[in-house]
Amino acid sequence: MNKLCTLISLSITLLTQTTFAQDSREAATTEYMDAIAQRAGNRTLSPVDSAIASEGMSNGLQPDDLTPGYVIVDGDIQIRAEELESFLANPARAVFGTVNYWGGSTVPYDFAANVNATNQQNAINAMNAISALTGVVFRVRLGGDADWIRFNASTFNNSPVGRQGGQQIINIVSWGTQIIIVHEIYHSLGFWHEQSAPDRGTYVTINSGNICGSSTVPGNPCNAAVCNLCVDGAGTPISCAFNFNITAGAGLWGPYDFDSFMHYGRTAFTCNGGDTITVNPTWNAQWQSGIGQRTHFSLIDELSCRGIYPKVGDRWLRVGGSGSGGTFFNPFGGFSTAVLFTPLNGTLLIDPGTYSGVGTYTEAKTLRATFGTVTIGS
Ligand SMILES: [Zn+2]
Repeated sequence: MNKLCTLISLSITLLTQTTFAQDSREAATTEYMDAIAQRAGNRTLSPVDSAIASEGMSNGLQPDDLTPGYVIVDGDIQIRAEELESFLANPARAVFGTVNYWGGSTVPYDFAANVNATNQQNAINAMNAISALTGVVFRVRLGGDADWIRFNASTFNNSPVGRQGGQQIINIVSWGTQIIIVHEIYHSLGFWHEQSAPDRGTYVTINSGNICGSSTVPGNPCNAAVCNLCVDGAGTPISCAFNFNITAGAGLWGPYDFDSFMHYGRTAFTCNGGDTITVNPTWNAQWQSGIGQRTHFSLIDELSCRGIYPKVGDRWLRVGGSGSGGTFFNPFGGFSTAVLFTPLNGTLLIDPGTYSGVGTYTEAKTLRATFGTVTIGS
């Protein structure tokens, strides 16, 4: 279905994954863009997640090699300490600042001295895997670069979310697992964890009774002092519940993605081996064992990143769109216009829906349905 020359009526179909949830997620961005007031007071440091074994975390330890001024939340996300303080002062908001993307889709990088040649190549391979599917351009840091990623060899995997300004550190221990490196790079590109999405309650249920710290009974396996997965700034065990916060900036586009490599596994932060995340009935049989995969790019992992960091010649079409530039954030709304303004040999990515498109088209352009059924007809 790729090269389009002349057509009268064309139907493009890909497997439909789930219901499109764009509207609720766009609404969430208003909250997400709000400024955050800082609060003096107690800083509650890092939850540290041993349950997400694939991300290489371990019990009771606080990394000391983060980007300066940052602490860990959600197992492997570096966040500014003052933002965590603000969140803890008002957990209902569950907003961790504004995500900044990388201008020109270009991400300069370098390596700390402790990253050996083999692991440098592992990181380069991970970056190449992202660039093969999206428009992100990684290149070695130049002297004039204001912002860059520094890969550091650590005993943990973690990264801040989005471009921070200046140097930001991606810590890696799992050098041998490419998708874990990709996962951490995705944080730096601006992605949160999938189950932090504002609408996650439709798709998954958090079982608070299985989260470390859910019991106050001394000696109970779910007493924070017994499971000891999360500690405060003084090293005292605390509940891990706040690793399950909703972050308004998470999951901004497309259907909820159980297959994402940005999703927690089913037993993240468990105190008793029980599931902390249950996939809701409609999707349970298919996905309960599948969430938390660290083996591949999901379709939405690929397309959401490609939307933010487009390939040359990419344009987007979405029902209800009215943009003149045809970008991911401001897509075209009409098929004929979208085809006309997609560059020669470019790709028009079409979100699910029915479009009126009868006509004659003579330039070579690629049409690609994104994550659902696209029908083009009269
Ligand atoms: Zn993560």
